[in-house]
Amino acid sequence: MQFETRAIHVGQEPDPATGAVTTPIYQTSTFAQEAVGVHKGYDYARVANPTRTALEECLASLENAEHGHAFSSGLGATTSIMHLLDPGDRVVCVNDVYGGTFRMFSQVYEPKGYRFDYVTPDELSSDPAAHVGDARLVWIETPTNPLLNVVDIAAVAAAARAAGALLVVDSTFATPYLQNPLDLGADIVLHSTTKYLGGHSDVVGGFAGTNDPTIADRLRFLQKSLGAVPGPFDAWLVLRGVKTLAVRMERHCANARRVVEFLAGHDRVTRVLWPGLPEHPGHEIAARQMRDFGGMVSFLVDSEEEAVSLVARTSVWTLAESLGGVESLIEHPARMTHAATATGPFAAPTNLVRLSVGIESADDLVGDLAQALAAAPARV
Ligand SMILES: *Cc1c(COP(=O)(O)O)cnc(C)c1O
Repeated sequence: MQFETRAIHVGQEPDPATGAVTTPIYQTSTFAQEAVGVHKGYDYARVANPTRTALEECLASLENAEHGHAFSSGLGATTSIMHLLDPGDRVVCVNDVYGGTFRMFSQVYEPKGYRFDYVTPDELSSDPAAHVGDARLVWIETPTNPLLNVVDIAAVAAAARAAGALLVVDSTFATPYLQNPLDLGADIVLHSTTKYLGGHSDVVGGFAGTNDPTIADRLRFLQKSLGAVPGPFDAWLVLRGVKTLAVRMERHCANARRVVEFLAGHDRVTRVLWPGLPEHPGHEIAARQMRDFGGMVSFLVDSEEEAVSLVARTSVWTLAESLGGVESLIEHPARMTHAATATGPFAAPTNLVRLSVGIESADDLVGDLAQALAAAPARV
């Protein structure tokens, strides 16, 4: 079955008990047993819940994964994956990761004796073996947040495999509609389902998929033992969102292209960062490993003052953190989503503005940016 069909049907057969076409929200914490240990596969809802199972099967299918695990948030998934390691282990991480990932690595795991080396996406893509070394795990994000850098998944996967390291790809920005890291050799694909998979800015969730049965068993154990699981209603919201992922992503990508064309020609914009631009340093890799270039766009303006005032001058674009919903969002990473990176080895540029391009009319989106940029104070 094709992607669009799997998004709507996998794990979501009509309910055998009632024929309900939509997967029910199994709002229950426990399940009756016929005799001790005799049940229909469910005993306690932290371990498993049928609504969550439907979501796990659906997302696993979309990522061409044998096994899927849903979590209470993207960082819940990250925490559980990090528990595959032991103190003292070395992690190689791209230096342009989600701010919350960096905060967890640097303020939670580093003090416990885990070791982290941060590498630029370009360095990692061009000579992955030199950087992987004795790492137990390689953590990449592509495209990255907020700079839209691209990492060569296949090249890093080959180097990680040769060195006996696990490769985790945070594919939140791309979604399974645009990119499938496991097909390129990654061991684990991770999503914040809060973003495009949920798609409506109404739920927080995470997902990890893998084809390795040993990793899958351990993640299943960690899911129940650490307890970062989504409730049934949250699982259902993501499941509902995913049904329209394909059509939403088509529009996100098309609208992003329109917005990029507008910004690239604007004299108040110093630089536009979007992997779809031929001059983007990761364009060739992105064209190879992604089906389209996504709905996230960042751009640079003259100064921090200009960036901070610009993001407050839009009206169709909402000033807010997060991304991937149907509505367009604008934000200032250095003071908002990426404030935690300010003290790290890589700080978000203070004159950077990040856009999550929604699925409204592209004319309205461009018109609103035009008025916000036109209202910029005169250049001195
Ligand atoms: C939001 C985000 C996360 C964290 O996910 P939560 O659901 O907020 O915990 C991780 N990676 C990326 C790329 C993100 O955008």
